[in-house]
Amino acid sequence: MGEQGSGGEEKRAKAVKKATAAAKGTAAAKPAVKKAAVKKVTPAKKSEGAVTALEAPKPPRNESRTALVRRARRINRELAEIYPYAHPELDFENPFQLVVATVLSAQTTDLRVNQTTPGLFAKYPTPEDLAAANPEDVEEILRPTGFFRAKTKSVIGLSKALVEQFDGEVPGRLEDLVKLPGVGRKTAFVVLGNAFGRPGITVDTHFQRLVRRWRWTEATEPDKIEAAVGALFPKSEWTMLSHHVIFHGRRICHARKPACGACPIAPLCPAYGEGETDPEKAKKLLKYEKGGFPGQRLNPPQAYLDAGGRPAPPLGAG
Ligand code: SF4
Repeated sequence: MGEQGSGGEEKRAKAVKKATAAAKGTAAAKPAVKKAAVKKVTPAKKSEGAVTALEAPKPPRNESRTALVRRARRINRELAEIYPYAHPELDFENPFQLVVATVLSAQTTDLRVNQTTPGLFAKYPTPEDLAAANPEDVEEILRPTGFFRAKTKSVIGLSKALVEQFDGEVPGRLEDLVKLPGVGRKTAFVVLGNAFGRPGITVDTHFQRLVRRWRWTEATEPDKIEAAVGALFPKSEWTMLSHHVIFHGRRICHARKPACGACPIAPLCPAYGEGETDPEKAKKLLKYEKGGFPGQRLNPPQAYLDAGGRPAPPLGAG
């Protein structure tokens, strides 16, 4: 938090200005994200109401409710400009695949899940197939995702429950989903939001970290965070808000070393300075398409490819 407390407002404004300029430079330097990023940093956009570096707010310790709602929504609008292609980062073709992939994503990366599920779904394409599977065969397939014995138990149990209680269909109601083995509220909201188009907030580790950095809430329990953040936004925005925040957490606002010096929303962030503020050093911390690297999905949406994003490699290819 060094920059915030020690350098005074003028110093902070200068640093934020530098970070904003770096964010522009990053966008220009990376052909892979040029299309989306250029849209984000055009002067026209700035003149339409985005906060400039010199207007950077002080850490909003005593921020009113109205100001908080306004700032939170402005951050989300900025994130929508930075990640117009934001999407769930698990590959899936139907609700069954999404619920299984989400269960498998515990304690591992979406990339690793995406590299593993093609083999799983090729062999067991339906809940009936997976419910009748030999656990040892499934364990072998799931080994790369870690905790593979427990995950095998969950996905077979989940498939059995789908067959026995829901005619082999994934239910589209929260209260039904959370009764399935291995499915908690977080998984249920991912499924509802992305396979059924029902708004939901996904409070994962990135979401928790970022909303606290932005002082959207002081809550620490996922249920309370969900309620507090949900109250700041219209329900219709919840699913995309979750994607924007998680995209930002994975690419720029990392847990240990947030790339503040290359962060386009630095002027709106009370935690600016918690990470690397040097623009050149910060640029090197960017990940996935923002750093010029492949994404997590082997089959990303077309919008991601159109913006210059690259698919992840299959298992064993990198
Ligand atoms: S703490 Fe995160 S959101 Fe805030 S300026 Fe740094 S990278 Fe950006």
